[in-house]
Parts: sequence; C-alpha cells; structure tokens
Amino acid sequence: MRAVRIHATGGREVIQIDAVPVPNPGAGEALVRMEAVGVNFIDIYHRTGQYRVDMPFTLGQEGAGVVERVGTGVAEVHPGDRVAFSNVDRSYADYVAAPAWRLVPVPADLTAEQAAAAMLQGMTAQYLASATYPIRAGETALVHAAGGGVGQLLVQMIKRRGGRVIATVSSEAKAAVARSAGADEVINYSQVDFAAEVARLTNGGGVAVVYDSVGRDTFERSLDCAALRGMVVLFGQASGRVGPFDPQVLNAKGGLFLTRPSLHLYTHTRAELLQRAADVLGGVADGSLRLRIDRTFPLDEAAEAHGYLESRHATGKLLLIP
Ligand code: NDP
Repeated sequence: MRAVRIHATGGREVIQIDAVPVPNPGAGEALVRMEAVGVNFIDIYHRTGQYRVDMPFTLGQEGAGVVERVGTGVAEVHPGDRVAFSNVDRSYADYVAAPAWRLVPVPADLTAEQAAAAMLQGMTAQYLASATYPIRAGETALVHAAGGGVGQLLVQMIKRRGGRVIATVSSEAKAAVARSAGADEVINYSQVDFAAEVARLTNGGGVAVVYDSVGRDTFERSLDCAALRGMVVLFGQASGRVGPFDPQVLNAKGGLFLTRPSLHLYTHTRAELLQRAADVLGGVADGSLRLRIDRTFPLDEAAEAHGYLESRHATGKLLLIP
C-alpha cells in the first residue's frame, strides 16, 4: 500500500510516497481502508519539526473509511462499519491500523469526505467553545484566522451558544467566509491593528475570551484584547511558536487566564470522544453546522495540499483521497 512519509524534517520536498506492507491490526486495533484523509496544520508542524516525531514518519492524524479487519479484544467496531477518527497517527495512507476506541461511527447520511472533514477541526471548535471556555449568551469572543478550517467552525459554535464574535482574517475572501459563518465583526489584521479595533468594538472593555491559533504574530496583542479576568486560549501556532513567557504579564494585563489546550486532552475517554463527535457529525448531518470542503487532492499530491495550506489561501477543509 502507499504511505505518505517523511524521513527527515523540512520543506514540502521531504514528503514522499513509499510502498509499505498493509499493517496488521494488533490487540485493540482495527484495520481501516481509508476513503478520505484530512489535512491539518499539525501535519505541517510534524513535517517541519515544530512537533518532534520519530523517523520515518507517516503523516496524518485524521480520516474516514471502512473497517476491514479487527485485532483481538475489539468490541467497539466490526468489519464493514463506516468509521471516522482524529488523533490517530499515519492516516496519509491506503490503510490505517487504528486503536479501535478512537473510531466513531459515521451517520448513514454523511459521506466519508464529510466525516473526514468534520472530525478534527469540528471537535476542536466544539471543545473550545463548550469546554475550554464555555461561552455564554451575550459574551464576546475574538477568533483569529476565522476564515480558516477551525476558525469558521468555531465562529458557528460560538454563535450557536448565543455569543458575539469579532473575527480576524488576512483577506477579503476570508472576511466573506467569516461573515457567512456568522461573525458579527470582521477585522483584516494584515491591514489594521486588531487590538485597537477590538478596544473600539468593545468600548474599551475587551472580550471575554480570545481564541488564538496564529501564535507568534498575534499572541502579545491577543493578551491586550482580553477583558479584566478574561481568558486567552492559545491553541495553535500557524505563524510560529510563541517564545518564553513571564506569568507576571497575566497579572499586569488584568488577572488573565491563559491555557494551551489540545484536542486529544478533550477526547481523553471514549465517552468524551463519542459525545463530541456525535455533536459535530450530527450538526453536519442536520445542517446546523456548515462544513466547507475547500479542495480535495489525490493522496499522491499531499505535498501540493501542504503548499496550499501554507499559502494561507485555504478557506476550509483540505482532503486527500486515496
Ligand atoms: P487553517 O485553515 O485555519 O489555516 C491556518 C490559518 O492561520 C490560515 O488560514 C491563516 O489565516 C492563519 N495564519 C496566520 N499566519 C499564518 C502563517 N504565517 N502561515 C500560515 N497560516 C497563517 O488551518 P486549520 O484549521 O487546520 O488549523 C487552524 C489552527 O488551529 C492551527 O494553528 C492549528 O494548529 C490549530 N489547531 C489546534 C488544535 C488543538 O486542539 N490545539 C486542533 C486543530 C487545529 P489568515 O490568512 O486569515 O491569517
């Protein structure tokens, strides 16, 4: 089978298509024949070395497909089941041997593409808005990169809970996407000082919560946007890693709360995973959560997909089709 692997960290040129044996599902694992594979920013962090991995490394964390075989002791799924997953390594491949407890059932009215597109970004938006900071009706949130994959889903999740959203984006095209997701205010942070705009839009009070996935380029100014005792959720580093940080700054800026969460910490048990996945996949199925699949690429063109995500032109989910 094909596996999209890296043997060293680096640019897109380190991505190669290797022929490897189909894995055997071990105890507690299921072999999934992949039908759609999600492309995420974490795949770029793995490739570039921002997150360390052992080599050779098969890229990918997300996808959907059909269970072919199961190993010993598997009760969660059966051969023939349509399943989707996130936070499982080695998904840029024709087959994945996945821990069975991480596989969730795909509703009959969703395609594999929709399921693969919704899992990682959708559950991220879901936990950020409902668990990391359970936003309440009438509160205002600042969402950076709101025209991107997670961003536009997070805007919808906040609106669903009755919050007000101030969004940042870098282009007019992304502003339109953020607005159609429900953003109340949109700031082009490549043209104006977003913190000054947030102060103006909140009459100087700041926002209850900042959701920052951009990292290095925005983090400091994000701290200036939070209200007294507000929360800053740093959940990504698309522009680069945030440097060392003095906690006293949180005091000086109003007794702020800072957290750095990850999806795997919020899908820690099967019950929690199934609950978040059902909320997201159910929302896509009943139309209350709008999923935007921007582009699909053949599996062999994973490097092109990375290039498109890095270019900042993507306005939704990118998928690889084996
Ligand atoms: P996106 O589609 O949102 O793409 C990233 C966005 O970041 C771009 O669209 C761009 O928006 C913005 N950006 C700002 N600076 C840069 C830069 N220098 N290079 C590239 N992009 C930049 O990707 P995803 O939806 O896959 O992921 C969004 C973020 O969420 C990532 O940071 C990712 O790591 C994080 N994430 C975190 C998870 C967690 O649990 N902690 C789980 C899933 C994702 P614009 O052009 O408008 O600035």
